[in-house]
Amino acid sequence: MAEDCIFCRIVAGEIPASLVYEDDSVIAFRDIHPQAPIHLLVVPRQHIAMLSDLTEAHADLAASMLTAVPRVARQVGGLEQGFRVIVNNGAAAGQTVAHLHLHILGGRQFSEGMIPR
Ligand code: 5GP
Ligand code: ZN
Repeated sequence: MAEDCIFCRIVAGEIPASLVYEDDSVIAFRDIHPQAPIHLLVVPRQHIAMLSDLTEAHADLAASMLTAVPRVARQVGGLEQGFRVIVNNGAAAGQTVAHLHLHILGGRQFSEGMIPR
């Protein structure tokens, strides 16, 4: 655990969060500043700062994160029409929490293409 990492502290139960899913590898909770009616974060229990830090050694963890997405979506509901998954990698991409996470955004129509608006 990284002591000064807010997501490590949520994983440890030291900071409350609106948990929607957990398993041995990841947890998922609602984003505190939602950018859509449904905005969830899928967070590995292990502290990894960003996507760029993943190596072959993290293959199982990476698979666990991605394969958790449909389970999280089913659990929360309201995402049957589709949802968007985003990873911000690094400050220039807008990453503000240095603990790897997937955003799941849904419950509204998004524009076509890749830009989240
Ligand atoms: P990033 O910009 O790093 O990709 O995303 C970080 C996300 O974490 C932001 O959308 C922000 O609203 C969310 N966030 C930051 N601190 C907290 C917190 O303490 N609790 C929850 N639930 N979300 C947080
Ligand atoms: Zn962390």
